[in-house]
Amino acid sequence: MTTAFITLLTNESYLAGALTLGNSLKKNHKTTHKVAILIDKQSLSKSSIDLISSVFDDVIDISDRLIKSSPIDTLTKLGRPELSHTFNKIHIWDLIQYSTVIYLDSDTLPIKSLDHLFDKYGGTKLKQGSIAASPDSGWPDIFNSGLIILNPNHETYEELKEFSTNPINTFDGADQGLLNEYFNLKSNGKNWHRLPFLYNVTPTDSYQYTPAYDRFVDQIQLIHFIGGIKPWHGKSHSNKHHELWWKEFEKHFTKEEINSILGHGEGKNLKFTKTENVWDEEINEESGEIEDSKANIPPVFPWEHRDDQIPASRTFKSFKEIEQVVEDEFNSISTSIKKNIESLGKLSLGKIVKDQESLKDKYNIDSNEGDQWDPIASFDKVSKLPSKFLSKEEKKD
Ligand code: UDP
Ligand code: MN
Repeated sequence: MTTAFITLLTNESYLAGALTLGNSLKKNHKTTHKVAILIDKQSLSKSSIDLISSVFDDVIDISDRLIKSSPIDTLTKLGRPELSHTFNKIHIWDLIQYSTVIYLDSDTLPIKSLDHLFDKYGGTKLKQGSIAASPDSGWPDIFNSGLIILNPNHETYEELKEFSTNPINTFDGADQGLLNEYFNLKSNGKNWHRLPFLYNVTPTDSYQYTPAYDRFVDQIQLIHFIGGIKPWHGKSHSNKHHELWWKEFEKHFTKEEINSILGHGEGKNLKFTKTENVWDEEINEESGEIEDSKANIPPVFPWEHRDDQIPASRTFKSFKEIEQVVEDEFNSISTSIKKNIESLGKLSLGKIVKDQESLKDKYNIDSNEGDQWDPIASFDKVSKLPSKFLSKEEKKD
């Protein structure tokens, strides 16, 4: 029966990766197996589909049966909302036209021919409902879902589809969390056949076990560019793995084709306007000097205090000088506090006094007691106040 490598492409943003992978398998490693791709046809342009059809043997459209996980989950758990598309890997178990399939993420680059994997791990060596995959470098008790060897079958396909409807079944919100729950954790690891790490090496800037890398570098079978930044997002001259990917990409396409493929990427439909943070430094176009943009911006709040208003640090020659500065600072703060209290006092007292006077006039409350305050007499007066307030106002002519 037919065997195939297969990748997934749900939108233009992974087009360069998918095409490079397809070319690498076919033209570079001259695989004897089919090279297939699952695509969401509705999210791809006609020219992209033409390019895909020129590289891949089998192009399978899944636009009528897309499965998505919650982008909120992939965002909050992984910081990668775009990975909500990766649940579509489930459709690979439905491809029973193939006896064994090796699924590869479109951000992978085979360094050696992977054809021997079909004989070594595929076919009858994999019982129904199990898979083969390499451990994940971030958590090696989990497999990385960028390379999976599997035998498609309907029973597993239906079970997986059902399994994916419950958000609790993916610990990272994406396919790797889901597939590990299903093939690894649910069966205590029994349904995960562990492949060597060499089949899914994930070098990133933040993780690199250099001595081990140097020891095994000649045996690496496949590189996987995990994370949000992919090689096609920009040409790098400092990352040797990205350079390797670019060499492969440029080997099979002309400059114009490359521009068009990358133009079809994420940026194609986005109109970028320069976003500016008002607190950022600005470069004066004429002098080339850095300008302090903060200086031109009025405070948003009256009490706003900006760092640039803090006096520069100074050195003191003696302890006496420090004491003097502290004393001055204390005096200036207490003076301003006093002023604030006074103005508050004036404001409220003035108002109260004025109101009291007008009440006295209005309701004819005699105040012959002078400034002396007699609580009993006052209470007597206050108790009579409501009737005075309620009495009809006398019309003044
Ligand atoms: N993918 C896709 N469109 C998307 C996101 C992902 O087609 O918007 C496919 C693509 O094949 C990609 C795979 O799903 O390689 C898994 O995503 P990614 O490789 O970005 O995950 P990572 O390896 O970084 O965890
Ligand atoms: Mn990947």
